[in-house]
Amino acid sequence: MVELTDEDPPECQQCGDSVASASEQRVVSTVEDGTAIHQYFCSDACLELWEA
Ligand SMILES: [Zn+2]
Repeated sequence: MVELTDEDPPECQQCGDSVASASEQRVVSTVEDGTAIHQYFCSDACLELWEA
């Protein structure tokens, strides 16, 4: 489960749609320079495109 905060609604890193309104949400956590970064996606399809 992923709990979204009241902060700025995340946008899909691939298509730019608001993830908050997506029925299936995906979050990928990566670490860059010691900082955790959460990448949000509106669907598996966008996640796969982004990873490609
Ligand atoms: Zn998307």
